[in-house]
Amino acid sequence: MSPRYCPPEGQIIQAFAFALDPTPEQRAQISRFFGARRKAFNWTLDQMKADVDRYRETGESGTPPSFYSLRKRWNAQKDVVCVNADTGEVWWTEISKEVFADGVRGATDAYWRWQQSRAGLVKGRRVGFPRFKKRGRDRDRFSFTTGTMRLEADRRHLTLPVLGTLRTHENTRRIERLIAMNRAKILCVTVSRQGERIIAAVRVSVARPQRASVAQPDSTVGIDVGVRRLATVATTSEVIGELVNPRALEHRLGELRRLQRQRARRTRGSRQYQETAAKIARLHAEVANLRRHTIHVFTTHLAKTHGVVVVEGLDAASLLQQKGLPGARARRRGLSDAAFGEIRRQLRYKCPWYGSTLIEADRFFPSSKTCHNCGHVQDIGWLERWTCDECSSLHQRDDNAAINLARWASLGSVGAPVKRGAEHQTESHSAVGDDTRKGSPALVGPNNSVRSAA
Ligand SMILES: [Zn+2]
Repeated sequence: MSPRYCPPEGQIIQAFAFALDPTPEQRAQISRFFGARRKAFNWTLDQMKADVDRYRETGESGTPPSFYSLRKRWNAQKDVVCVNADTGEVWWTEISKEVFADGVRGATDAYWRWQQSRAGLVKGRRVGFPRFKKRGRDRDRFSFTTGTMRLEADRRHLTLPVLGTLRTHENTRRIERLIAMNRAKILCVTVSRQGERIIAAVRVSVARPQRASVAQPDSTVGIDVGVRRLATVATTSEVIGELVNPRALEHRLGELRRLQRQRARRTRGSRQYQETAAKIARLHAEVANLRRHTIHVFTTHLAKTHGVVVVEGLDAASLLQQKGLPGARARRRGLSDAAFGEIRRQLRYKCPWYGSTLIEADRFFPSSKTCHNCGHVQDIGWLERWTCDECSSLHQRDDNAAINLARWASLGSVGAPVKRGAEHQTESHSAVGDDTRKGSPALVGPNNSVRSAA
């Protein structure tokens, strides 16, 4: 999206997003900017594609594409490229040149991601050759990295190059305060469309005060992210907290289901269909915002409070595939996976801020199906409650997993408690439990759980 920037020592990069309330003129101008970025992106892609084709035909390679060389080519040709077909007018003069630069950068970045992926330098799924952007299929956006970018002192306005001063839907206090105290500096502003809303994401470099320590440096907690509960927090002996979906979120999820059914009954492309689709898009945004907010409050509290936080080191995407879950369950799991990814992502940067240590347990550590009372590992499928075959303790799935995760922290030097691959084996053959158990002696602890009864 924007140039990589390494913050100086003691500085971190943070983004704050604000919904904007542009005037109708500004709104029109913004959507022209979205189109202009797309134009520059597609033009750049076209140039690079022609270069690749020429190389394949003739074998002569020109200079490898770079942002700087292509921006230069763009500037030399924009008089020809940006001409209104009907009136013959040149229109690039009405657009901020930063918007075009952002499009050129987007295309060259995509090109190099493709090259790196081809060379096997990028983890994960293969990256294809960049595609041309189409209106309606593209995520409408553009970024400013230079020029006048300012948050006004009234905390209700944001000033950007060419667009001028825009009203923000929310108060900008969170960030305006930091800038006024000279603790933050704006690096980049990205304007994008989310459903009907125009959002400005302000990226700043912030000086973080170094905290001496967290509130309870000796406290170690395990976090299990679940299906029914968003998360469960436990110490090595008992559950100390739960994060449930807030009521407002549950309500919207119900409403979302209702609207999705409604849309399914309507004729695709009809006016009523469009109306329902717009409502769904709005609700999706609300659900995402609410969930993110809930998780933010939760992770900040964890990072400020506990000395050590342990989460599952679960590769959610691959787990989902490998289990081949049936529809409804996969979707539910999908929701909690999204929450899980977000919780882990936030903890990864917040724990260092506040002086807490984040530990990601081995991804094959069977936190759910290990009895925290005796250490026995058994296949529990998707059961919410289960009884240990060995010691007859009664377990609630998430509670048990969170306690096991908290204990993982003290296992560190013992090494992996379960041999790799055990996760797959116990999935289909519960009998494997016997030999995996020998590897996890540290899990056997005194029966001091609040919720298990022998
Ligand atoms: Zn047991």
